[in-house]
Amino acid sequence: MPFTNYHCHASFCDGEGEPAAFAEAAVAKGLSSLGFSSHAPLPFESPWCLGRGRDGGALGRYRKELTGIRDLYRGVLDIKIGLEVDWLPGLMGPADPAWVDFDYRIGSVHFLGAPATEGLWAMDDTAANFASGLGAVYGGDIRALVRDYYEAVEASGCIVEVNTGGMARGWMDRPYPAPWLLGRIADLGIPVTLDSDCHHPRDIAHAFPAAAALMASLGIREAMFLDGHAWSARPLFAPMGHPERRTRHDRQPMLAGAAFDHCCA
Ligand SMILES: [Zn+2]
Repeated sequence: MPFTNYHCHASFCDGEGEPAAFAEAAVAKGLSSLGFSSHAPLPFESPWCLGRGRDGGALGRYRKELTGIRDLYRGVLDIKIGLEVDWLPGLMGPADPAWVDFDYRIGSVHFLGAPATEGLWAMDDTAANFASGLGAVYGGDIRALVRDYYEAVEASGCIVEVNTGGMARGWMDRPYPAPWLLGRIADLGIPVTLDSDCHHPRDIAHAFPAAAALMASLGIREAMFLDGHAWSARPLFAPMGHPERRTRHDRQPMLAGAAFDHCCA
């Protein structure tokens, strides 16, 4: 099938490049759909969010500019306007009314902890900070943290994202989640998307064929795509000349960002 990518960050937040450059790159790579997913504003100052976390008009300008780009590429590339929304315990989350009318949301966990008492633990800061938070919140038990995350994902009905962002940055030679988790995801029948979390147009479809081959080898043969406003599944590799088989899923219009070996900001 033609690939899609619903995870990209242009210059609205911490990405590099104007949205039209991302759209051109997507067309050049033969993608059928491109979703923009800028970081939604956080309730405190942040250098990597829309409006850098302080400009209340940034969200409106983001939607307006992308609506223009979407109209420009109509019939060539299906552009979706999404957001990557942090879940902050008791403060904000991807199901908040502020963002539900976007085409989709990517749910991210960049922080854990209790904001009112012990403060927030930034999960993709330094290795030392990660170890300290893991000790404080989970007693150092990484498996408990991973188990908590994926049990919550499964219960939520979200789609899981397979993400090649670490490969594009040269940090690793495989996508995340790790293969053992992808195998579990296949066993449980949890639907997935394949995204690159690109912060530059050159990474728009980074290592997609290799990632799709790995997914297929682990039993994942379909990926979700946004069919209008509903998620549908289609084969990762469609034989030439065969009509696509599409499957409707009753799923939340939300992706769960791959966590724990995922640095997105
Ligand atoms: Zn991201």
